[in-house]
Amino acid sequence: MFAKILIANRGEIAVRLIRACHELGVSAVAVYSEADARALHVRLADEAVLIGPPAPQESYLRGDKIIDAALQTGAQAVHPGYGFLSESPDFARAVQEAGLVFIGPPEQAIRQMGVKTEARAIMEQAGVPIVPGFQSDTATDSDFQREADRIGYPVMVKAAGGGGGKGIRVVDSPGGLIDALGAARREAEHAFGDPTVFLEKYIEHGRHIEIQVLADMRGNTVHLFERECSIQRRHQKIIEETPSTLIAPEVRARMGEAAVKAAQAVGYVNAGTVEFIADAQANFYFMEMNTRLQVEHPITELVTGHDLALLQIRVAAGEPLPFTQADLSQRGHAIECRVYAEDPANSFLPATGPILKSVEPIGPGIRVDTGVGTGDEVTTHYDPMIAKVVVYAETREAAIRKMDTALSQYIILGVTTNLPFLRDVIRHPVFAAGEATTHFIDEQLSVWQPADAELPDEALIAAVLGEMGSSLAHGAPSMEDGGGDSFSPWGRTDAFRLGGL
Ligand code: ADP
Ligand code: ADP
Ligand code: MG
Repeated sequence: MFAKILIANRGEIAVRLIRACHELGVSAVAVYSEADARALHVRLADEAVLIGPPAPQESYLRGDKIIDAALQTGAQAVHPGYGFLSESPDFARAVQEAGLVFIGPPEQAIRQMGVKTEARAIMEQAGVPIVPGFQSDTATDSDFQREADRIGYPVMVKAAGGGGGKGIRVVDSPGGLIDALGAARREAEHAFGDPTVFLEKYIEHGRHIEIQVLADMRGNTVHLFERECSIQRRHQKIIEETPSTLIAPEVRARMGEAAVKAAQAVGYVNAGTVEFIADAQANFYFMEMNTRLQVEHPITELVTGHDLALLQIRVAAGEPLPFTQADLSQRGHAIECRVYAEDPANSFLPATGPILKSVEPIGPGIRVDTGVGTGDEVTTHYDPMIAKVVVYAETREAAIRKMDTALSQYIILGVTTNLPFLRDVIRHPVFAAGEATTHFIDEQLSVWQPADAELPDEALIAAVLGEMGSSLAHGAPSMEDGGGDSFSPWGRTDAFRLGGL
């Protein structure tokens, strides 16, 4: 096992990975930008190295500085987390060339799966079903028009280098194609530095179902079943669950086999996810492979009982997977909600601001993965995800009730969040029936407004500021806090009341 690992990320995933290191008895090195000097991941790590100014291009995307930090601190391996450099084959190579272990797949697998058009071609070769589509480096717009007619509308224009839902346009009829090609190319050029786009048949009322795979260096490749991620806004997931309500055991087995085949086709090692789009009849087609740990990995951990972050580190250290496919099973039901600083009543516009008070839900079967808390700030520099609330229960109905309760207990003051929106999704009859497709939010909640809050946010903020003011004024708990009795459990009554709001 490694003695020291550098975590090349920030926020909740850095926190989660530092904890995984500590569970393995491995020391963890954090890297941070000037904006994150007081961040939780920096405080939890055994050592931390400043790598630059807040802008990701000058810090968390500076592979050279991150590798320098690893060498300086004597780390033997680098875990990239998700986002940032996690799917950069050049970074994976540079890490290896520096004599360090990259905790992820081989450079070549990242490269092959990183370009969607190339991945589609490899999948077709390997016999994995792909969505009917068209790709060409030399095609003119009139070639695209002809091919779209052949595929049949609606079609989807997608960026070859895409990720995070960017560079995607749905086109309903021939009249919209040229504009969509232009818009997707501009967005792709801006986001990924590559304007290449391709066409796919748009699967209407589709369900996003993905398979977690895991492979060790000795040729054992397994899948850990599915996650359904159909609840999306802007083609980005906000709620995920497992098992999926769509697929029967026989389909699950075929999907799992297809995912393992996809991984083997590129010589995959470590954790990865094969994403499929399924139609109402559960016909499924390959969309892409994410060659990294995914945001929604906790739900798989809860139903399989296996810690994916620990397994990633073990596999990278050369250990064999401690199970075969036959040893794996799903038990119970898990749901994840992504809590974002954003305004669902205003096109999900990202929100920024200080987190004046954060009280996370706790209880049996509730897991909250977060990198921020009271006193931290959500800035424009990074992804506005505040936390992931994950629940586990024996049945889907019980998991839904548990999530509803957990969300209702979560207090975040100072910045607008999607918490009330998530709760409305969780309580929606279409979601309860297990029938939500990727259109769910557009169809059911496009004109969403928050219900009248029992207490206006301003009143809550005033209460928090009052509490902060009084604790500043009083300093350490005094005799007065306990009504004259310094051993009274009822000291600090303000704080006690606020917790109950
Ligand atoms: P997941 O598939 O794990 O749910 P997402 O697509 O939501 O992942 O993306 C995970 C994180 O990585 C998000 O913070 C997202 O902004 C970021 N991300 C994904 N793809 C890219 C990309 N190509 N470039 C930059 N950031 C990306
Ligand atoms: P990204 O790399 O941005 O995650 P994906 O290829 O995974 O891009 O697509 C993002 C989302 O767009 C999917 O989760 C799905 O909801 C939708 N989508 C992608 N391709 C199709 C398709 N052919 N038909 C229907 N929906 C699709
Ligand atoms: Mg995707």
